[in-house]
Amino acid sequence: MSARNILVINCGSSSIKFALVNEAQSSFPLQGLAERLGSPEAVIHFENASGKESLQVPDADHQAALAQILPRVEAAAGGHLDGIGHRVVHGGEKFFASTLLNAETLAGIEANVQLAPLHNPANLSGIQAAMSLFPSLPQVGVFDTAFHQSMPEHAYRYAVPEFLYTQHGVRRYGFHGTSHRYVSKRAAELADLPANNSSWLVAHLGNGCSTCAVVNGHSRDTSMGLTPLEGLVMGTRSGDVDPSLHNFLANTLGWDLAKIDSMLNKESGLKGLSGLSNDMRTITEAREAGHPGATLAFEVFCYRLAKSLASMACALEQLDGLVFTGGIGENAAVVRARTLDHLKLLGFKIDAEANARCVRGVAGEIQAAGSPRILVVPTNEERQIALDTLALLDA
Ligand code: AMP
Repeated sequence: MSARNILVINCGSSSIKFALVNEAQSSFPLQGLAERLGSPEAVIHFENASGKESLQVPDADHQAALAQILPRVEAAAGGHLDGIGHRVVHGGEKFFASTLLNAETLAGIEANVQLAPLHNPANLSGIQAAMSLFPSLPQVGVFDTAFHQSMPEHAYRYAVPEFLYTQHGVRRYGFHGTSHRYVSKRAAELADLPANNSSWLVAHLGNGCSTCAVVNGHSRDTSMGLTPLEGLVMGTRSGDVDPSLHNFLANTLGWDLAKIDSMLNKESGLKGLSGLSNDMRTITEAREAGHPGATLAFEVFCYRLAKSLASMACALEQLDGLVFTGGIGENAAVVRARTLDHLKLLGFKIDAEANARCVRGVAGEIQAAGSPRILVVPTNEERQIALDTLALLDA
């Protein structure tokens, strides 16, 4: 059998990120991004081994953009596509693994729209567009939340009245599950330990950030909650604040819920603390130049990350290693070093030279002698979605 090709699609409200994954090739034969969909500036960017190219598609919606993307994907796949894997943000309590998409599972995603009102409808429109363009191709949904469905109840329940959970689904779900699952398995491979008999702390640090405790290949706790706002300091998200902040801002400034929600999601985090940028590259450069806001944002980010990792350790009986991943985790050696300064009590010590070497896609161990393992592992959510799609095709 020749190596199979899976198209991986990640739809946002006005964007489609896509990658063609071939099971025998480590790089993607074709990938790209359609953005500003629904506007006169809609554009699709394609990238393959011979370069980059952009196509203006004024006013294209998801379906129109996919209609442009799919013939190129088919050509790059040598005329044969085996399936499509869709990233879906919220699977609620219904989806604890990736699933073949059909009328029943689509209704299940629809039923979770309340839990992810911005993301799930966008995911659904991408799925419906792909299904109408390719009705005979198997399509699979891979959920950000599914990996965390193994959390025990004491980790996923909030201390609020029970009916809010039983009748309205108010609980911690967690996100970034595809990445936590992929990198914890890769970490076990790199450390030559069995994934089903090893325990990891994982820090996924991108524009969104979360930590996870992984035991024998299963999530036991994670820092994000009902929504991706809970937990760590992120690019523009505050992470944890006192829940009474809403009340305080309403009483003192007269802010309504929409304004408070927007401030916590879009104006906070690194951006809010630094007054400069949501981007860790800019923050680390400005910090080196002595910018006080960037210095504060960096310090709060690292301290809160260390605090979250220490609390995740409660979910482990043994620790085989700590894994850094995501744009910041894979590249910002200074963030890794500063975070681990706060975790000496857990025995972590970093090797400066190895830490500096593991950037731009280089995986490896960066601990000093006597420290528990510390690994840098590039994440690859697209490949994990393709692997899940292939596994369901085989089943
Ligand atoms: P992601 O969402 O995984 O693409 O990660 C985006 C984040 O990674 C942004 O905050 C980037 O600034 C950060 N990042 C990427 N490269 C670097 C780098 N060399 N140093 C610091 N942060 C980086």
